[in-house]
Amino acid sequence: MCVVGRWLYERGYVASTDGNISVRLDARRILTSPTCLSKGMMAPEDMVIIDFDGVKLSGDRNPSSEIGMHLLIYRRRPDVHAICHAHPPTATGYAASGIPLNRAILAELVVTLGCVPVARYGTPGTPELAAGIEPLVQNHDAILLANHGVVAYGPDLLTAFFRMDTAEHSARVGLVSRLLGKQVLLSRDDVDKLLAARSRYGVPANGEGPCLVTSGADPERITLTRAELDALIEDAVQKDRSHR
Ligand SMILES: [Zn+2]
Repeated sequence: MCVVGRWLYERGYVASTDGNISVRLDARRILTSPTCLSKGMMAPEDMVIIDFDGVKLSGDRNPSSEIGMHLLIYRRRPDVHAICHAHPPTATGYAASGIPLNRAILAELVVTLGCVPVARYGTPGTPELAAGIEPLVQNHDAILLANHGVVAYGPDLLTAFFRMDTAEHSARVGLVSRLLGKQVLLSRDDVDKLLAARSRYGVPANGEGPCLVTSGADPERITLTRAELDALIEDAVQKDRSHR
């Protein structure tokens, strides 16, 4: 955790004392980084152990005020054993602009993360933060937090860090292609092949929902839920009856 904290700080993914890292130790305990300490300057004795209600079990320091978001992720995702939260500038810029990382411009992003959605804003340090990500946690392994930062998680700490790294790198590439004024998107066919390759790479099938924007997306083509389609058919039938 101290090494990953240094990586986050040295790469500029966190400023000052921002960000937090945690690891699920067992069914009862979580090891977490402390609040009010730079993630680049942590020593093992600074770490805090809490239970799944967020109550401190041991440690001289206190856990982060954003720990509620970690607790929610651990509760919802038994497969997750480590979480990184940081404010990397480019991905956070996307989050602050309300723009998801959902354009199929990089094979690597499609394979490792699929699309990275933007969670609605929630005041940091309050239950609002966890509530904002709640609808997205099940189907995504990295989430942009509106006007705030990024949270990434996985089966181990290195994977959680790499997912943070991939999100930031993809945001940088996305930004450069936006600055160049042109984005060539992968086709649906290309994306389907990459998603099929995930199982070969041992990547869990997360984040691959219809949110990935591919080339050749037909503007005349729309997507409806079954309820919306039923309502449209019902409406048309009613109109037809009233005209008879
Ligand atoms: Zn934060």
